[in-house]
Amino acid sequence: MLKKCPLVLASALLLATSAQAQNIPKHVAAEATALRDQAMHDTIAFDLVESLSMEVGPRSAGSAGDKAAVAWAVQKLTELGFENVHTEEVDVPHWDRGTLNANIVTPFVRSLVATSLGGSPGTPADGIEAEVVRVESLVGLRALSNDELVGKILYVDHEMQRAKDGGGYSTAGRIRTCAHYIAAERGALATVIRSAGTSEHRVAHTGTMLNKDIPPTIPAIALANADADMLTYQVQSGKPVSMSLLSTAQHRPREKSANVIGEIQGQGDLAHEVVLLAAHLDSWDLGTGAIDDGAGVAIVTAAAKMIMNSGDAPRRTIRVVLFANEEFGLDGAKEYERNHAASIKDHVIGIEADFGAGRVWRFSSQVADDALGLVDEIHALLAPIGLERGNNKAGGGADLSPMRKVGMPVFSITHDGTYYFDYHHTPDDTLDKINRDDLNQSVAAYVTVAFVAANIRDDFGRLQPYTRRERTCSAEDDNWVS
Ligand SMILES: [Zn+2]
Repeated sequence: MLKKCPLVLASALLLATSAQAQNIPKHVAAEATALRDQAMHDTIAFDLVESLSMEVGPRSAGSAGDKAAVAWAVQKLTELGFENVHTEEVDVPHWDRGTLNANIVTPFVRSLVATSLGGSPGTPADGIEAEVVRVESLVGLRALSNDELVGKILYVDHEMQRAKDGGGYSTAGRIRTCAHYIAAERGALATVIRSAGTSEHRVAHTGTMLNKDIPPTIPAIALANADADMLTYQVQSGKPVSMSLLSTAQHRPREKSANVIGEIQGQGDLAHEVVLLAAHLDSWDLGTGAIDDGAGVAIVTAAAKMIMNSGDAPRRTIRVVLFANEEFGLDGAKEYERNHAASIKDHVIGIEADFGAGRVWRFSSQVADDALGLVDEIHALLAPIGLERGNNKAGGGADLSPMRKVGMPVFSITHDGTYYFDYHHTPDDTLDKINRDDLNQSVAAYVTVAFVAANIRDDFGRLQPYTRRERTCSAEDDNWVS
């Protein structure tokens, strides 16, 4: 008896260790690896983003392009053999940018490359002409004396920083969505910002100017970086600088759009559970929405299609949701959470692709603590194609946020965003910016993760549901960390 004890102990230890290390059964890991490697040489994703960006093109919420995109997605998912292909109606705003003419009038006349921000009202029919007041930040804006902006045009000259993880966008985006409210309260006639983008080309970056859906009251435009340099130069000359703006932007009646959904239905006792693969179907209107978010549409659809082609039905249902109107209010995501409130508890994981088409380099999670070992095992399958293990604080993407708030765990598979903000929301967001090999490497990561999540018995637990107030444009929220 005594002699046997160490052996018994040792085998008990071995059993415990191997049980911990085998959240992913060997055959599932092997098949995921095979799909991963196959994705590197596939063509589905590129074909999809090519079709969407070339045949549909710009598709901002409520536009004719938006409706064409919904029809395109239904047709593609059907042709590809998805099950339960359907639309779920979403009520969306319809903003029309019209035309914009922006000029420096004094001291040196220049016409400017600029674009209206999404949601901007137009100018009066005879335009606006006023002196420019320049600041570099919201702090600088808040520090102006109360009457300094009355009858003036505010210019916020913040240069967005380039970063692999896109980190510079947070500050730049906050300026885009907040500066005009503060300026309007102080009597400004309009707001001009340096684009929330890193492009060295002479293109301006659009994007929503809404915060908490509060209607803006003064026009707001963004300048191309080169044109912001010009305006800054003139302001720094010390002479008074004035600008003229003429914009016909306007809100039109709300329209109907739709989330487009297709599935690979699961088989067996976990079939009611859902692995949610998400992207957004809408795009801004200036480019053809190839990287934002045609690439995402292509990546998640291609990943699901590869799993469909691989043979047996997954244990869990894989659901591809192409969301309506992410860019201008997240209406599709909010509607999905309302429509599916009763079954969000069965959504075991959400994964969204909405950060372009660069190579993916990091795999992060937001799952229950006791699922972290499983996530590490999934990461081990991604490490050979270049992914680091991120932390357990992943946001999961804007469209997943309503579901995350009620407990759905999420993964973030992060693309290299070094150049993403050169093209984001500009006329340069076109197909030629997408490299096939990089796109395929992204698909490889998504297909690996989705296949494993859909075919293992374990899940990722639930997150603590939370409700908290939304970030406002007040000074106390400037340093908000989400
Ligand atoms: Zn996007």
